[in-house]
Amino acid sequence: MYLDTRPGREDKLNEDYVAATVNSTSARAVLLDGAGGPSELPTGCNHGTPWYVNQLGDHLMFNMRNPSTPLTTALALALDAVAESHGVWCDLNNPGTPSSTVIMARRVRDRVEYLVLGDSTFVADVNGEIITVTDKRIDEVGADLWQAMAALPTGTPEHQAARIAFVENQRRMRNKRVGGYPIASNDPDAAYESLTGAFSTREVRRVALLSDGATRFVEFGLGSFADALDILGSAAPGRLFDRVREAEASDPAGARWPRAKRQDDIAAAYLPGHLKVAAAGGIVGAAMTS
Ligand SMILES: [Zn+2]
Repeated sequence: MYLDTRPGREDKLNEDYVAATVNSTSARAVLLDGAGGPSELPTGCNHGTPWYVNQLGDHLMFNMRNPSTPLTTALALALDAVAESHGVWCDLNNPGTPSSTVIMARRVRDRVEYLVLGDSTFVADVNGEIITVTDKRIDEVGADLWQAMAALPTGTPEHQAARIAFVENQRRMRNKRVGGYPIASNDPDAAYESLTGAFSTREVRRVALLSDGATRFVEFGLGSFADALDILGSAAPGRLFDRVREAEASDPAGARWPRAKRQDDIAAAYLPGHLKVAAAGGIVGAAMTS
């Protein structure tokens, strides 16, 4: 099993979150990619996005422990609980209130279940076939504003102004039923808009949970999702992050790979056959190290 996250900037707290636990009867993993947005924009929250993803992630890991609780319900309950934790001094109706993508994966008996909300990616090697699940509904919102930003060199005031216009629009469209996209934030009903599914534990060889900072590896053409799984399962899994950072450094202005941020937070969780072994009471960890 491998878990890691790396901040996009030295001077800002990481807004990604990743956690996993494996024991003899179950396995659970969560990855979140919080949307903080440019510091110029208000959020109405006194805590901040790093606090939000830590709260949400810990609630999710706890709520998932009961196999009879569906992942969507576990997420809805967690969203409710974190909304409560903000307290009365935070304005949750502010369009900039912290939000996050969500990936949850869980082995329950003979099934590997997943939930995806937002543009993080769940990757499963199912009998050698690489299956990816990501929720691109967010990309359909403000595509014209994204294009306007992408045409400008990253790091310039013009690019930053275009980025602010893009993010302001994205914020307004959060969890809007018409023309918007569902995301983890102040609305528990968003949980029921998640993409969910399951595989048989007998067929799942390995899985990964990746933030969009990590899927830049594929987006930038540095390798395939199978290559990403191979690197994460190797003796030097950190090479995946290194390769992305090297590519970002080689294109600081975003001329080759237009993007909102020069460097993004990166997070990844990789579970080899951990999610596969189903025998209750069996010893999972030793047998499954690959
Ligand atoms: Zn708050």
